[in-house]
Amino acid sequence: MKLLRHDIRLILKGLREIGRLRRHLLSLSIITAALEAIYPFINIYMTGLIIGAIALKQEWKTLVLLVCITVASNLLMLLLLNALNSKARIWEQEFDILYERKLNCKFANLKYEETEDPSVHALKEKIRELKNMSGKGLVFILSSFRSVVKSSVSVAAAASLVYPLFISYDNSENGRNIINSPVFSVLLLACIIFNVFLNMNSNRKITQKMYTILNNMIPFNKVFGYYLDSYISTYHAGKDIRLYNQKEFIDSEIKNLFDENVNPTVERLGKNESKYRTLTTVSAVFISALTYLFVGLKALLGMFDVGMVVRYVGSINEFTNAISVFMTQFTLLRSNSEALALYFDFTEKPEQSEDGFRTIGIDSFDNAASFEFEFKNVSFKYPGSDNYALKNISAVIGFDRKTAIVGKNGSGKTTFIKLLCRLYTPCEGQILFNGTDIREFRYEDYLSLMAVVFQDFQLLSAPVGQNVSAGSDYDEDTALRCLDEVGLRERIESFPAGLESFIYKDFDQSGIEISGGEAQKTALARALYKGSPLVILDEPTSALDPIAEFEIYKKFNEVAEHKAVIFISHRMSACTLCDDIMVFDNGMLVQTGAHGELLKDKSGVYFELWSSQAQHYIQR
Ligand code: ADP
Repeated sequence: MKLLRHDIRLILKGLREIGRLRRHLLSLSIITAALEAIYPFINIYMTGLIIGAIALKQEWKTLVLLVCITVASNLLMLLLLNALNSKARIWEQEFDILYERKLNCKFANLKYEETEDPSVHALKEKIRELKNMSGKGLVFILSSFRSVVKSSVSVAAAASLVYPLFISYDNSENGRNIINSPVFSVLLLACIIFNVFLNMNSNRKITQKMYTILNNMIPFNKVFGYYLDSYISTYHAGKDIRLYNQKEFIDSEIKNLFDENVNPTVERLGKNESKYRTLTTVSAVFISALTYLFVGLKALLGMFDVGMVVRYVGSINEFTNAISVFMTQFTLLRSNSEALALYFDFTEKPEQSEDGFRTIGIDSFDNAASFEFEFKNVSFKYPGSDNYALKNISAVIGFDRKTAIVGKNGSGKTTFIKLLCRLYTPCEGQILFNGTDIREFRYEDYLSLMAVVFQDFQLLSAPVGQNVSAGSDYDEDTALRCLDEVGLRERIESFPAGLESFIYKDFDQSGIEISGGEAQKTALARALYKGSPLVILDEPTSALDPIAEFEIYKKFNEVAEHKAVIFISHRMSACTLCDDIMVFDNGMLVQTGAHGELLKDKSGVYFELWSSQAQHYIQR
């Protein structure tokens, strides 16, 4: 009972969510389902009247009138249902897109640490697989709900047409016949109920087996998805596919999967279904025969005319079907609870933007030189890790200077920046901006303070201008100025479409394949376009050799002359350009100071790092 209440609450929550995603879709579904349910009864009712009129040899005018009403009501219903169904199809498509959008936007808005958690990725994949493989989840409620509404209306309509049959008894001489006994009515009802349970059980068994089989197919679908969608279809793999003749290999992998797994599975599914379908068909035929017998014999006793026979038999058949559909769909709706719970688990995860309420409260960044960040005894462990990635860090970063953060790989440099960007929250200690805990600021407001280029920055398959502005609109002059500052303007202007040239060929055949260095410059231009007072470069140039990296840093330093910059690198090239240097080792901030000052400490990590790399910079 508790479980039933839990399932019903979840179904109602799902219905509310559908209403939120696509307004009025549920109302449209209810109206369409109700009309679809009523439609057959109009014909049952009218056919009964027409046959009755013929049997009673009524006037031809009455007959013509009845036929005209039947044809007109059929036409009207068909037109109405057509219009409603085509509207519903469009709205369902919209709903599907809004649903996918919600899942993906949710992922983009999650707290960053969640996006690095493999179990969150697995949860999102599971929701998508359940939908694609077996239609389960939020989308399932929509179709099932429609069937539940339709069958409920059918049951009510059939019951209202057929109930006189079960309560009318003939008290005359003829009426003493066995067929007139209430026992026969009860027997027919019992058979109908038995048929309902048989149907329900068969459908449950069929779908259970189907879901088990489809679940077992998920790994194979992943393989298909990988080879056919991700690998063969991307043009990046085009070279390898040709040079290593991978097509034959992929063909044989797919053929083997089909022969060994997919085909036998489909065969098993078919056999399983046909076994249960035979059983339910035999039962339905039996009920039908019993119904004809019951109604026909009552008619023979003269209790009603032949027109009523048509009405009663038709209504009982509709009733039997509808009640089976109702029970089956309701059971299926309940079996959908697990998938629905997963959907809500994911969509109700906390979002990054839910943090903070304060606005930065600064209209322009003219006096940005007076801003500062302060780390106060900050320590941090990644979720699920026992080791400190950062331990007891205290430091001040002023916006009036350039800072370099150096240290060996894995020493904690990127983690420091991730905490500064609020992608993670310190486990201990506090980070302050101008004396206020950074978590108190609205996230979007806070991010306006800084533009970050990470080592693994991403560009979009979109026009250069949009890549630079990181949005759908861009100011042409500003975009060109930023590209000019990173030394990419001439190259972009040499393309016929200029700023409108697509980067990569995913969406545009004439898209440009830019080199790694050009991609880095585009990412730097994007950081400049944002107009933040602080720019953070977290090893975006690590693919370059130390001298080329130094040249880029030097150029960027000039470009960002009036901005605060934080350079992060495991190389030392940027250090000579900076006012302050922070040296990380093993998660700790071991030295801070200016280049010349730090070099004086011959036993320090800075001296060790500098000496080991100095040969790269001597040529300067
Ligand atoms: P650096 O930028 O100096 O190379 P990081 O800040 O990336 O170093 O890493 C510091 C430590 O944290 C390393 O031991 C690294 O393995 C660990 N680490 C980094 N990212 C994660 C993560 N997402 N989950 C768990 N540990 C991580």
